[in-house]
Amino acid sequence: MFRRWWRRRRKREADANLTITGECNQCGACCAQVLLISGGRPVKSRRAFRRLVRRDPAYAMFRPVDRNGRGELRFTCDNLGGDGRCTIHDRRPQLCRDYPSVAMVRAGGELPAECSYQVVPLQDFRTLLEAARPRD
Ligand code: SF4
Ligand code: SF4
Repeated sequence: MFRRWWRRRRKREADANLTITGECNQCGACCAQVLLISGGRPVKSRRAFRRLVRRDPAYAMFRPVDRNGRGELRFTCDNLGGDGRCTIHDRRPQLCRDYPSVAMVRAGGELPAECSYQVVPLQDFRTLLEAARPRD
């Protein structure tokens, strides 16, 4: 019992020190295999997805396609063009503008393998910045 609490606490502390680095390579993979988060957890059922759409109709653009190895639903988006690009890029909803986020990773989401962003410990990121700083 204590061990589980301790593991959870260590994970929370580790997650709090994450950051995201990199630039988008516009591969479109994130829009073709979306994990949706509701109540801090990935959506696992169509019922939970319908509830999410009722709460925020912006989610109606997603369609469930399959499940990942953890049983979480993966979605694609009606606005994803055949060339892998967003057809409403200039007016895409906030949830797309916020991607990728540490909050998404904390809730169990992962970046697709094709994604050129990286989730790194904040400490490592600071070390990298320090190393890249021009010397006098
Ligand atoms: S609206 Fe555009 S950016 Fe957002 S998930 Fe759909 S295709 Fe991707
Ligand atoms: S998967 Fe990553 S690199 Fe590819 S379009 Fe999405 S955010 Fe950009």
